[in-house]
Amino acid sequence: MHDKPIMLIVDDSEMSRGGLKRVFLGEYEFIEAKNGQEAMEILRAGTPVSIILLDAIMPQMNGFQFLEKMQEDSNFSGIPIVMVTQQDDEYTEIKALELGAADFIAKPFKSQIIRRRVKNIVVKNQLEFKYKSKYDKLTGIYTKDTFIEKTSQMLRENTHKKYVIIRWNIERFKLINDLFGVKEGDKILIGMAKTLAELIKGIGTYGRLERDHFVMCLPYYLLDIEEIIKRINEGVGRYKADYAVASNFGIYMVDDITLPVDIMCDRANLALQSVRGNITKPYAFYKDKYRSSLLEEQRLIKDINIALAEEQFEVYYQPIFSLSLGKVVSAEALVRWNHPIKKIIPAGQFISIFEKNGFIMQLDVFVLETVCKQLKEWKDSGEQFLPVSVNISSVNIYEPDFCNKVMELVRKYVIDTSMLQFEITENTYSKNTYQHSDVIKTLQKRGFSILMDDFGSGYSSFNMLKDVPIDALKVDLRFLEDFDKSGRFGSIITAVVRMAKWLNMPVIAVGVETKGQLDFLKSIGCDMVQGYFFSRPLPKLQFQIFVKKSDNVLQEKIMAYDESINYNELFNPNFVSNQIFNSIIGGIGIYELVEDRLEVIRVNDGYYQTMGYNPQTLYEDAGNILCKVFEEDRVLLIEKCRNVCKSRGLGEIVLRRYDGNGKLLWLDVNIKYLGGNIHRPLFCFTFKDITTSKGSKKTDTPVVSSEEE
Ligand code: C2E
Ligand code: MG
Repeated sequence: MHDKPIMLIVDDSEMSRGGLKRVFLGEYEFIEAKNGQEAMEILRAGTPVSIILLDAIMPQMNGFQFLEKMQEDSNFSGIPIVMVTQQDDEYTEIKALELGAADFIAKPFKSQIIRRRVKNIVVKNQLEFKYKSKYDKLTGIYTKDTFIEKTSQMLRENTHKKYVIIRWNIERFKLINDLFGVKEGDKILIGMAKTLAELIKGIGTYGRLERDHFVMCLPYYLLDIEEIIKRINEGVGRYKADYAVASNFGIYMVDDITLPVDIMCDRANLALQSVRGNITKPYAFYKDKYRSSLLEEQRLIKDINIALAEEQFEVYYQPIFSLSLGKVVSAEALVRWNHPIKKIIPAGQFISIFEKNGFIMQLDVFVLETVCKQLKEWKDSGEQFLPVSVNISSVNIYEPDFCNKVMELVRKYVIDTSMLQFEITENTYSKNTYQHSDVIKTLQKRGFSILMDDFGSGYSSFNMLKDVPIDALKVDLRFLEDFDKSGRFGSIITAVVRMAKWLNMPVIAVGVETKGQLDFLKSIGCDMVQGYFFSRPLPKLQFQIFVKKSDNVLQEKIMAYDESINYNELFNPNFVSNQIFNSIIGGIGIYELVEDRLEVIRVNDGYYQTMGYNPQTLYEDAGNILCKVFEEDRVLLIEKCRNVCKSRGLGEIVLRRYDGNGKLLWLDVNIKYLGGNIHRPLFCFTFKDITTSKGSKKTDTPVVSSEEE
């Protein structure tokens, strides 16, 4: 501890340093440096300097160079510097002020004057510093410490009142910064602070905790959370009109005022984390169970070492089905923890803990090695076996040695690299696309496939697909559950599958639990599926048995239907209509007319049969199915669609087209307008194959009926 403030005197002349010390004797503690270089070292050592007196001309690093260095380092921005100049040296004085000096004093020194000037500077600086640390630099509202101090005081002085703490953060703030730049991001934060000030001033406390996390404390009787959210969103909207800024809120009811306020904020944060990404309900109240799950997490951490030593981890395998081939084509390896007390814990409950504390490296290598051993065992047994995909944590993908570790294991167990695939979550890529791109390319060059896991759950899915070479996408239906309520679920999956087809990437839908979901996925051309509807993840022996009889399982699961169809439900994967849609004998297709193209949106099983397609092959032509229509009939078909659209009715046309195998078909097509945008109308086509009756007259002109309603 220093009793007096520290003055750093930087001057190469001992005599000058002595002169300055005499002027400030008794007021400061002195530290001396002979040049800028030495002064820099003193500061970097962490000496708490209150003021610097700086000579201009010195060897090694002169005063100006020192000022420049100080400007570059924000750690020292709070220390005022006074330049010592010769009398009437206007050039030095101006340059010093330009380079950030707080003031200058000229030789010969007039003790009274320079003492006063330096004192003023120090006092002003201390006041500024005090203000700055109390208020957030960017937004001008309370910092975390001040919020805690003021809120504690408010709670202490109003013990008769009940309070709530609300903490929130801006949804996908990182994306806003990425998309619009940090300046725009800052604008939103400032807007948030201004909105808060308007909303809360006088009724409670508020502040910025960190990054995009804000907090407020107000009396319980004023809590109308829906109204608060509405006003915050509207308020912030004024500062960024072209982007709908949304936030997630966590609320802690202050029931124990002896609890430190920072713990109250942590509890509000636990509630906030429980609604992250939830667009239908953006807020939650803190419940004790959030805390108990945190404590549970801490208990698990204690058990990790023993678990690794005692080999309590086991790899399960979940089958992945191809709908076009009607069989299991691969499996995903999912780790389970056979905990002595808690029994079998699924990966979802501990992977994130392992990622936080670094154990994930050991765990992923363990899973990888177990899978390699398993693949070797299956191969040696002479039975047919399937590729297995292994989840790799983003933490490990950053590990420069990762590829070598993989190759080591592959060599050790003599594994064909095409039998091993890696699942990487998209967040992994988005952090540093190009570095990953290299790791991924290296793995692909060696023959491994890379699957992008959890597509659609992260921040920049579509954008990064163009930069990172991916072999397949995995879409987890459960991530899109929220869209289900808004009726957009089906449209989003359809868009993902279509986009993936354009990029020549297969899509694996994960989390398929119902027949309705399966039928829907099939009808939009999603070929691979994984989920409880077929099988849960299984221990290796059960998995082997399952695969052997899986063809029957699949057939059984896919059968059984009903009668009529409700077009409004076409995009809802959970509706009965999907079963109905598929049960109709004969082909049905839902199409969108985009300029002069007809895009396939959905088809039923009858369509696949009539047209000789499977989900895989259809989607090569789906972008414009007209390419399969007999050339002379194309214009007539488009015209027909336009008329049907205009009349909002029905139409019929006899059409020639080639099926998926190149065979010419004659079709009787009924067209119904379903709705949709005038520029992108939707139609339902039902097909009757009349090739046999037309057989000999292959080039007849198509028959067009004109019974539009
Ligand atoms: P994931 O890669 O998306 O794996 C799919 C998860 O969904 C698995 O959960 C699986 O059991 C579950 N699941 C599959 N079908 C259904 C379904 O129809 N309904 C429901 N409700 N769930 C279904 P699990 O095994 O708990 O794994 C969770 C996550 O943990 C995985 O998500 C993966 O990201 C990670 N993980 C699993 N094993 C490993 C591993 O060995 N290493 C690493 N780094 N991560 C792993
Ligand atoms: Mg996975």
